[in-house]
Amino acid sequence: MDAPPDYPQPPIGGDREWVMADGASDDRKPVKGPAKGDVYVLRERCKGCGFCVEFCPTHVLEMSHDYNPKGYHYPLVSKPEACNGCDLCGMFCPDFAIYGVRRRAACKPIASAS
Ligand code: SF4
Ligand code: SF4
Repeated sequence: MDAPPDYPQPPIGGDREWVMADGASDDRKPVKGPAKGDVYVLRERCKGCGFCVEFCPTHVLEMSHDYNPKGYHYPLVSKPEACNGCDLCGMFCPDFAIYGVRRRAACKPIASAS
């Protein structure tokens, strides 16, 4: 789904895909660790059901006290550092008002990777 132009575009790339920063292919490997991601909220589409808040596995979201133009509370990203980009919020949202995106894994030389 293409995001409306008024909202930040997610990074291009698929789940668990990774690329070399400088074209090297033999001396680098993906860094192990928890997946990181970003979540995007389209406030004016939200109807305040709260599914995204309820089902987020890492408790990234909370409902706002403010209202959107339709008169509904909408999700706020209260713990962005905890988002892993799983997009469960997007899968549960009945109004296509939120989606998560995984970031490409960072790469670093094998010698410094643990
Ligand atoms: S699931 Fe969608 S409609 Fe429901 S509160 Fe979250 S963003 Fe709004
Ligand atoms: S993408 Fe996953 S971790 Fe991030 S807010 Fe949505 S459900 Fe939570």
